[in-house]
Amino acid sequence: MTRKYDANLVVIGAGAAGLVSSYIASAVKAKVILIEKHKMGGDCLNTGCVPSKALIRSANIKSYIDRAKIFGFNITDCTVDFASVMRRVHKIIRRIEPHDSIERYTALGVECINGEAKILTANCVQVNSRIITTKNIIIASGARPLIPKIPGLNKVPYYTSDTIWNITALPKKLVVLGGGAIGCELAQCFIRLGSEVTLIDRSDRILKKEDAIVSSEVIKKFTEEGIKLRLATEVIELNSTKDSSGQKNSIICKNTAGVTEEIFFDAILLAVGRKANTQWLNDQASPVNIKLNSNGSIAVNQHLQTNINTIYSCGDVIGSYQFTHVASHQAWFAAVNSLFGFFRQFKVDYSVIPWATFTDPEVARVGINEQEAKYQNIKYDLTQYDINDLDRAITDDEDHGFVRVLTKKGSDRILGVTIVGYHASEIIAEYVLAMKHKIGLNKILSTIHIYPTYSEANKYTAGVWKRANTSQKLLSLVQKFHVWRRS
Ligand SMILES: Cc1cc2nc3c(=O)[nH]c(=O)nc-3n(C[C@H](O)[C@H](O)[C@H](O)COP(=O)(O)OP(=O)(O)OC[C@H]3O[C@@H](n4cnc5c(N)ncnc54)[C@H](O)[C@@H]3O)c2cc1C
Repeated sequence: MTRKYDANLVVIGAGAAGLVSSYIASAVKAKVILIEKHKMGGDCLNTGCVPSKALIRSANIKSYIDRAKIFGFNITDCTVDFASVMRRVHKIIRRIEPHDSIERYTALGVECINGEAKILTANCVQVNSRIITTKNIIIASGARPLIPKIPGLNKVPYYTSDTIWNITALPKKLVVLGGGAIGCELAQCFIRLGSEVTLIDRSDRILKKEDAIVSSEVIKKFTEEGIKLRLATEVIELNSTKDSSGQKNSIICKNTAGVTEEIFFDAILLAVGRKANTQWLNDQASPVNIKLNSNGSIAVNQHLQTNINTIYSCGDVIGSYQFTHVASHQAWFAAVNSLFGFFRQFKVDYSVIPWATFTDPEVARVGINEQEAKYQNIKYDLTQYDINDLDRAITDDEDHGFVRVLTKKGSDRILGVTIVGYHASEIIAEYVLAMKHKIGLNKILSTIHIYPTYSEANKYTAGVWKRANTSQKLLSLVQKFHVWRRS
């Protein structure tokens, strides 16, 4: 039988979103072709989650060495071999690489092609000189670091999260521009490894999507560790001059109090946000006009379908939550809706999205926080448990941070949780499950948690909630009962 289409699905981009879309499509026996122009694994493997978490591990080991005395060790000499730290980062990438490799995906039944995809029509994609006809297309072309327009930027060598992994010498003085998750994680890595770090942000706090109390907790640690914070500060320009002592780079900035400062640096890391990779759609002379949002990301409906019926999109390129696990989550909807949408389209479910920022202390969140509840006019009760009271945290000398749970007013239904502290990104999993399956704080309270663990903090938080929500009338009745029993 001659077939009208070469493939059921062409997936453009082999990052988390594209890989998972291809995986799902091949698992249900569709003919799927995956096109990647650069490296399999995309940002997460090559320049994002994997290298950053590998670097954080080295930086954290160094911070333990710096704190060794409190654990009973006298370590007098510890030098950082930065080149070796970075070699380890690349070794870790190579170890994880096979998970995302052409070999693995080919074995799964996906045809992988290396090259830049061009969309010719709603059912036709070109890669290299090959023309592929396809019933559907998924665009999963990701995002890249945003390069801000700063006067003088062309005069100084700068790094982004795409390029910082190639350095082999520790910058003596590092300026980090941007106090979001990427800027904060990397600023702390570099201070711990020995750089002098200044973090600049135009906002008056870091991690501004989180509640102010969260920012304060992280700021407290950053300040203790020596990160110089320049908040509520605008960058004016960058300069580079040369004299007998060599090249001098500096950044001139001004805070909201009107104070101007010139900060000298060896390296500057730009971490001011990310931009969807959609330029290639404009560059190609195609009759297919895919609608974009005002920030350049691809506009999709609740089924992750673009304005072109046959074309779906997922991952960072649609710009919602830019996390690997969200890209994978969306990929299921994009793959299933594109392949089976003929029968039924599923709405992408964003009701329970967790994430973490891997600073020390870690910040983990699921659902809404207090500032979002207020903004959305949602009535809530707030319960906070301070981890400085937790036995396991005390044994480990990690007795800091808190668990904050928002519940529906007068109910134990969880609306959102923020955890700041050691292993927050792991402890939050219980709440993610609870929210997903509508398990309330009463059930968490009645669940046995291993002693002594960090996850006990979840049970104790539920205990704090219970004490605040037990009827005083009932308690006074019970008290009367006990008095009567003693009579
Ligand atoms: C420093 C850093 C740390 C991070 N840490 C975390 C973390 O700890 N946890 C977490 O969940 N997330 C983290 N993220 C975010 C995470 O990396 C992204 O959300 C995730 O990689 C998005 O996957 P994606 O598939 O949408 O895009 P990408 O991974 O960017 O993949 C898109 C792919 O498409 C390819 N492509 C683009 N255009 C074309 C074309 N025309 N033809 C063919 N191929 C094309 C690109 O080459 C790229 O490989 C981090 C990001 C950064 C930068």
